[in-house]
Amino acid sequence: MNTKSANQDWLARSQAAVWHPCTQMRHHADAGSPAHLPLVPIARGSGAWLYDFDGKRYLDGISSWWTNLFGHANPRINAALREQLETLEHVMLAGFTHQPVVELSERLSALTGGALGHAFYASDGASATEIALKMSFHYWRNVGRPEKAEFLCLAGSYHGETVGALAVTDVAIFKDAYAPLVRAATVVPSPDFRLAEDGETPADVARRAAGALEKHLEQYAANIAALIVEPLVQGAAGMAMYDPEYLRLARALCDRHEVHLICDEIAVGCGRTGTFFAHEQAGIRPDLMCLSKGISGGYLPLSIVLCSDTIYEAFFDDSVARAFLHSHSYTGNPLACRAALATLDIFEEDDIIAVNHRKAAKIAAALAPLANHPQVRHLRQRGMIAAFDVATDDPHFSRRFYRAALDREALIRPIGNTVYLMPPYVVSDEEIELLARSAIGALAEALT
Ligand SMILES: *Cc1c(COP(=O)(O)O)cnc(C)c1O
Repeated sequence: MNTKSANQDWLARSQAAVWHPCTQMRHHADAGSPAHLPLVPIARGSGAWLYDFDGKRYLDGISSWWTNLFGHANPRINAALREQLETLEHVMLAGFTHQPVVELSERLSALTGGALGHAFYASDGASATEIALKMSFHYWRNVGRPEKAEFLCLAGSYHGETVGALAVTDVAIFKDAYAPLVRAATVVPSPDFRLAEDGETPADVARRAAGALEKHLEQYAANIAALIVEPLVQGAAGMAMYDPEYLRLARALCDRHEVHLICDEIAVGCGRTGTFFAHEQAGIRPDLMCLSKGISGGYLPLSIVLCSDTIYEAFFDDSVARAFLHSHSYTGNPLACRAALATLDIFEEDDIIAVNHRKAAKIAAALAPLANHPQVRHLRQRGMIAAFDVATDDPHFSRRFYRAALDREALIRPIGNTVYLMPPYVVSDEEIELLARSAIGALAEALT
């Protein structure tokens, strides 16, 4: 008789045939080792929950890598996709257009108050980063300033892991291995408020980091095309949060020194930080903006670069060489665009920004007991992202915590010693309580 459960069968087959991302595969294989990372086969999802093949459930506390906004198998997004599937699954976007891509471009431009008038499409976040960098570089060439060809990024920045995007990604583990392949950008100090010196407020840290940016621009702006930032929260750095003052100052400095400001809103956009776009909290607009992750509700690969009319117009010409050169087979895929439109509909119909303000307050209250934990540092939150750092020397802390959380029905995957919650917006008050209880319980277990 075969005594293997359906779960065990799928995980064995997955380990044998699938190369999982962001993973040392050996950590899946070595059950019993402190570095063990269990592989969890998922049969189906519903709302904020994922279910395995044996009927065990997990609350998706990190929105399946920050993508899911309105739950798994959302009936409204499903209905929109079913209709789109029966109408048009795909058509090339070179020389052709279609209703979902036009409507999505119009609505996104409107969400920027018309500041970013054109939308360019790809499928993943790293491609959006590369497109934004290429657009900035090519803009300066088209306006007769080809020497503006360098980029600036913040310490600890993450903008994707393709060879081009790694140029502006400053997370050692991703970058070090491939450094010889990469034309690295210049790294300027991060405004991360955890870097506060005695007596400094988060706004002081922001001003200090902007001061360093100013010094750099004063010397080198003639060769710099753009500064790229993750507005308000540097996600992959470990949910490093900073004061909006930095964005205000960076915007003014970029204007003064004729450098583009690229806002990578791939993780922080779509209502995650309390406004639809995070940069709104600084009262600024970027020249270029990258979107992906949540924009399709977590359904389909889709990324978008929005640009200002000034940038667009520098490419509008008789010459093909002056046109933007980036082709991608599935660009503007109608199904992905339709998922994004259904996502934007939910934002409007359910007044999600207001709903999230209430949910964010619930998350803060549920995690508040951790503020007094002797090993918890920098308990922090920006909208629907809450995080804290754990003071421990245990090199296996993140995996111990991850396993302990799974045992408590929660998918919470720390980044190093930073534990964060980033749930889908459909999470209920009871589910927030469960997530917080699981996090607090998992912390206790991981630290014993
Ligand atoms: C995830 C992420 C990316 C890369 O997106 P992929 O779709 O994973 O390539 C880029 N920038 C930020 C801020 C991200 O969080």
